[in-house]
This record gives sequence, structure tokens and C-alpha cells, in this order.
Amino acid sequence: MTERKAAEEALRRRDERFRALVQNLAEAIVVISPDGEILYNTPTAAAMFGDSEPDGSGRAVAPLFEKLHPDDRDTTATVLASAWTASGTVGPVEARVRHADGHWVWVEALAQNLLDDPAVGGIVVTMRDVTERLDAERLNARQAEILELVARGVPLDETLESIALALEASDTGLRCAIFLLDEDGSTLRARAAPSLDAAFLDQVEVAQAVRGGCLYGVSIQDRASTRVADVENEVACSGCSAVALANGVRACWSTPLASSISEEALGALMVYAHAPGLPSQAQERLMAVLADVAAIAVERKRFEERLSHQSLHDPLTGLPNRTLFHDRLVHALERCQRTRSEVGVLFLDLDRFKQVNDGLGHDAGDELLVVTAQRLLSAVRPGDTVARFGGDEFTVLCEDLPAASAGQSAAEISERLLAAISEPHSLLGTEVFLGASVGIAIAIDTETSPDDLVRDADVAMYHAKQRGKGRWEIFDEAMRERVLTRHATDSALHRAIERGELRLFYQPIVAVADQSCVGAEALVRWQHPERGLVLPGEFIGLAEETGLIHDLGRWVLREAATQAARWHLGAPEDFAVSVNISAHQLARGDLDEVVGEALEVSGAAPQRICLEITESVLMDDTDAIVEVIRRVRDLGVRFSIDDFGTGYSSLGYLKHFPVDAVKIDRSFVSALTSDSGDATIVSAVVGLAHALDLKVVAEGVETPEQLAELVAIECDHAQGFYFSPPQPVADLRRIFSRNRWRVSDAPGRGRRRR
Ligand code: C2E
Ligand code: MG
Ligand code: MG
Repeated sequence: MTERKAAEEALRRRDERFRALVQNLAEAIVVISPDGEILYNTPTAAAMFGDSEPDGSGRAVAPLFEKLHPDDRDTTATVLASAWTASGTVGPVEARVRHADGHWVWVEALAQNLLDDPAVGGIVVTMRDVTERLDAERLNARQAEILELVARGVPLDETLESIALALEASDTGLRCAIFLLDEDGSTLRARAAPSLDAAFLDQVEVAQAVRGGCLYGVSIQDRASTRVADVENEVACSGCSAVALANGVRACWSTPLASSISEEALGALMVYAHAPGLPSQAQERLMAVLADVAAIAVERKRFEERLSHQSLHDPLTGLPNRTLFHDRLVHALERCQRTRSEVGVLFLDLDRFKQVNDGLGHDAGDELLVVTAQRLLSAVRPGDTVARFGGDEFTVLCEDLPAASAGQSAAEISERLLAAISEPHSLLGTEVFLGASVGIAIAIDTETSPDDLVRDADVAMYHAKQRGKGRWEIFDEAMRERVLTRHATDSALHRAIERGELRLFYQPIVAVADQSCVGAEALVRWQHPERGLVLPGEFIGLAEETGLIHDLGRWVLREAATQAARWHLGAPEDFAVSVNISAHQLARGDLDEVVGEALEVSGAAPQRICLEITESVLMDDTDAIVEVIRRVRDLGVRFSIDDFGTGYSSLGYLKHFPVDAVKIDRSFVSALTSDSGDATIVSAVVGLAHALDLKVVAEGVETPEQLAELVAIECDHAQGFYFSPPQPVADLRRIFSRNRWRVSDAPGRGRRRR
């Protein structure tokens, strides 16, 4: 008995151990009959599917296939069928099994045929719940797909729609909407809501705008998720619960889209459920991931928009830049063909901006530009485009100008712009006055290209500047002609230097006292193959603008120095050749090298050269200019100030500049004998110049009376048609000869010639 009892006890212990093991297995085990009936299930299996445990009677719990997802039945059947015949385990197979409460459980199953084992008598299926793993895998795949959309630069609305659809596909009875906040964070708008009525979304938007406390409003402000399990009974939903219920929404879950860069919220991912309840863990994860991806998509879009804004706008003023202006102009020109209206371009350049910028500093200059931009914007009509073209240049695109009076309308707009700009600015405690010059160009026919229009307006602006600034000019054919001529002249002038078409004429400069020659001014001429002799007034300005003045000036210096060297022997001791130097040559800062080279090549003595510069040169960048002048003077070359009295500089200015002579402008000399005021000025200049140890040259002397006046006020030197016009060297031989360096002996003296 004792032995039997002990054996029974051992058996009982073993049974208990087995039962305990089976009941606590992580894997679920079911035994199924050849017909697919579940004969036995472990407690884990019962819990996994929400089934009751079998009562041990051997009666089937349920047919397995009914619990399988329809899409998974075939594959599962195939695997089980192979289990009938195979020995050992078959599988694994993945399939969805419905839980008693209706949701699907993904399982991974292995099957083993134990039909012949009398203790089992069925197929043993061992299953693991892999829902979480598969969910995570699917979630990763969705996330990757959507991120790829973002990376490919698919339009934002499309990406958001895919996100909403991905969420809706995760479960039945869910509808999703993605709302985005405006950039200023004030308004929330639905951007993607593939399965929701527009009317519903409108109402939700209104609820948000009016109350601001609507569900997603709350969650956005707190940047926290909000879950309303029962819309009907939730106080926070009182504002829109009626709307929600009417649309079949019973639960409402909101997740904010949070910026990964800043603290701000970008919008919200809203999920509306048909049935009351909270999201499952899987749904929570899905919403979190999709909200993140949506935020990434939104930020990328905003970043792109910012980049494209930057590439099309001026960073300082925020105005459209040249590129955007061009774009808008292209479209405006296309549109105006349909609307039979006209398009005008205004080109505006600030007057005196450089002085203010240099004088008050660049920060002040920037501020001026910003204020100017705002004033321009407020002076144009709504719909007109104001752009910053560069530096202190602005352009305005005026559309829909009336066809009959486009020019007049554009002129009126220009008047308004000019008035707006000329209002004083208070800057750094002072009042600053700016002006502007405006050029107007109207598209005259459908052929007009955007570039032409801007160029024409620019040309007209240039004319406005030349006509005294602070005004507007409309581009016309005459301007076009002038532009074309200038263009032709420019290229011809290039060739002229290469082909040796330039000539130097010389005009004697004489001592007022005895009319002996003290020098000659070299004046350039262009022997044009068709136009004949062209005077410098027609090409020096152009050469200055195009930069050709440097080559031209270099040639003039060499040529004049060479001539000075030739005259050297017979000439009086002080005799010097005067050469005109352009402001541009001085500004470049290398004049000492150019002059040094001319002296070297020609072999001329430096004291035989005098350089003439105009007063306006001295107004610009004084220190740098004075420095250049000093370097050139160190070579032994003299300087005089040309056209004195026509610029802005005062007599007081003279002492700051290292020069040797002043040339009083012709306009004063011609008025010497008629206007007593001018005589006084000239006499004062002579007095002051002498006090500063400078010689005075009177330009443009044409009559003996003028000469007499100059003698009376003790002017040193004179130059003018009365003595001799500018002439080629050959024609001057009679004056500049070994014996006679006196103009009074020259034949033809006093003849007026140019
Ligand atoms: P500027 O240096 O003041 O030269 C004097 C101008 O007055 C010359 O004109 C001369 O022909 C003219 N003139 C001389 N005497 C009389 C007179 O009695 N009555 C009148 N009405 N005019 C007189 P031009 O040769 O046409 O030169 C004009 C300007 O062109 C020059 O004015 C000078 O500023 C510039 N220029 C001439 N040659 C050169 C050059 O080689 N380089 C540069 N940068 N400028 C030059
Ligand atoms: Mg001169
Ligand atoms: Mg002059």
C-alpha cells in the first residue's frame, strides 16, 4: 500500500506539474480535430482569443476557421493540410484570429500532427501573439513610405492625405483630419481630411475660431494630446458635440503636431471614432508616429517656402527682388494682352543716397532703405509690385493702366512716389532729406520684352537724373535713339584707340603780362572716318561711363608727354603741357604709375607736365584723392584745378589741396566785361590764389577787353580763342618756334575758331 500510495502521489505531482506548466506557458496551444474543430485550448489560448476554456468533455470549443480572418484562411488551410501528412512540425504561418470582443490578433503558429497519439488525438497548434511586432513593423513601413513622400517633395496636402488615410486604414470606424495652424499661429484650418464632410470641418473650424477652447485648441496650446472617450458627455466638447454627434462622431482624439526645431505647435492630428472609447496602445503609437511624420512634412514645406521666399525677396526690405519682379512682369505682359490695358515699369533711383550712406553710416543707410521701401509700398496702388532692384534702385510694376492714358497714370504714380520719398526722415537725431529720379516705360506693343521695358525705364531714369534729379521722365523714341547712338559710339571709340584715330590738339596758354607762351593745353579729338573731327564733349562722358577713359587717358598722357619732350629744347623755362585728367582716372588710385610710365616712355621732364583736374573730383573721397595727388606730385608733376567756380568748392577749399594753379572757368571770364559782380569774383580768386602761392589762369578769353580786364586784376595767365584756338602741332609751329614763343606774333591771331 505504501508503495502504491507513493506511486500515486508521484503521479499526482507529475500531473500537477504538467498542468501548471501548460497553464503558464507563454505560447498558446490548441488541439484541433481533422475537421478544424478546437478540441482543447490552454488557458493562455483562451485568454488570447477571449474564449472560454473547454470543459474537458472533449466537445469542440469552436470551429477554428470561423475565427480566422477570411484573407488568411487559404494559407492556414494549406499549412494544416500538410500537417495531416507530415511528421514533425509544420509552419510557421502568420494569421489573424478574431478575439471574442471583435478585434484581430495576429498569431504566428506551428502545427504538429499528434492524431496517432491516443492521449492527444488531434493536431497541436502552438501560437504566439505577434500583433505588437507586426504592428510595429507595419508602422515602420508606413512611416518610411510617408517620409519618402516628404523626401521626394510631394505636395504637402498629398502627404498629409496619405497620413490621414494610413490612420483610417488601421482600423474600421476611424476618420482622420489634419489641421494646421497659420504661420502666425492664429487660425487652424483643415488641410487633409479624406473621409470627413467639408461642412463638418467648417463647423469645427468655426467652433475653434469662436471659442478657441475646442478640443484641438486645448491640445495645441498645451502641446499635449487630448482624448475624449465620449463626446456626448464630455463638458469640454459642449461647443461642438452637437455637430460631432450629428456626424457620427462619438469619440475624439487629438495629437498635436509639434515642431522638432522650435517650441511651437504646427497643428493637430484629429481622429474621430464612430464608437465611444479610448485608443488602443497600438493606435496611440500610430497616432504619435503619424503626428511626428506630419510635423516633419509641414516643417520641410515651411522651410522650402522660406528658402524660396528668400531667393525671391530682398532680405533687407522684404520687397520682391529682381528675379521675382521679372517673373511678375512676364505674367503682367501676358495678362495685358487679354485685358487690353497697359503695363508700366517705373525705375526709381534715390538721389544723394550715397552721401547719406557714407556720411551717417551703413546702418543708417539700411534704415533709410527700409523706410523708403515702406513709403513706396504705401504710395502705389494695391496690386502694383514694388521691388528692390539693387543698391538704392527700386522698380515698380504698374498693371492695368488705362490704354488711352497709361503714360499719364504712370506719371501720377511717380509723383506720389516722389512725394512720399521726399518727406524728411529723422535719423540719428538729424533730419535727412532724400529725393529720387524716376524713369517710366510703358509697354507699347505685345512684342515688348520684360528686359526691354526695364532697360527703357532705366534709360528714362538716367535722363531724369541728368535733367536735375527729383523728377520723372517717360521713355520715348528720342531716348532710344540716343541710347543706340551711344552704343554705336562706344564700340567705335574702342576701335578708335586701337586704330589710332585719336589726335591731340594744343591750345597755347600765355602770360597775361607779355603774352609769351607759358604752356599749352592738350585737348583730345577723334578723327572719325565718317563723322570727321569729333570734339571731346561727345565722347569723354561716355568713355568715363564705360571705363574706356583709362585706356584713352593713358594714350593722351603718353602722347602729350612725348610732345612736351619734343618742345622741351626751345621752350621757355616754365613751359608746360597741360593734360586733362578725368575724375575716374584719379579715383582708380594708380595715376602715379600711369604718369610715371608716360614720363619714362617719352623721356619728358616732369616739370614740363601739368595735370588739370576739376573741382568736383575734390568733393568725392577727399583723403584718398589728396593722397594720389601727392604721389603724382612727388614725381615732379604739377597740378591745376580746371573750370574753377563751376563746382561747389569754396575758395577755402583750395588750401587743403596740393595744387599749383587754378583755371577760372570760361563763364566768369566771358562775363568779366559785362557783369561787375563777376569781375569782383575773379579779382577775389586772383587775390586769394596769390596769397596761397597759386598761379591763376583765365580760360576762354575771346576779346581784347577781357584781356585788359585780366591785366587790371593781375591775373597770371590766359587761354582762349583771342590768342589761339586748339590746333594740331603742325599748325602751332609758327608760334612755338625757336625764336618766337609769343602769340602776339602769330598770324591769324584773334580769329575765332574751335
Ligand atoms: P577744358 O579742359 O576746360 O578745355 C577747354 C575747352 O574750352 C576746350 O574745349 C577748348 O576748345 C575750349 N575753349 C578754349 N578757348 C575757348 C574760348 O575762347 N572760347 C570758348 N567758347 N571755348 C574755348 P574742348 O577741346 O572741346 O574740350 C572740352 C573739354 O573736354 C575740356 O574742357 C576737358 O574737360 C575735356 N577734355 C579734352 N581733352 C581731354 C582729355 O584728353 N582727357 C580728358 N579727361 N578730358 C579732356
Ligand atoms: Mg582743361
Ligand atoms: Mg576748363
